[in-house]
Amino acid sequence: MKTPVVDLGSCILCEICVELAPHAFQINEAGFVETMPLDDYSDENIHEAKKNCPKDCIIWE
Ligand code: SF4
Repeated sequence: MKTPVVDLGSCILCEICVELAPHAFQINEAGFVETMPLDDYSDENIHEAKKNCPKDCIIWE
């Protein structure tokens, strides 16, 4: 199964992904976006987050 991973080098911390899919993306203690461990990343909110990332830095791995 594929996991959405944030390219931290491109991320501008706009938090759009966190707003659209808070179950999948959170700001961690270090202040970076982190993908939360889920069994399934196929839901629509995660795809919306990827689509709406202004830097296009959420990638599937
Ligand atoms: S939407 Fe993209 S640029 Fe914005 S915080 Fe999330 S990963 Fe970073």
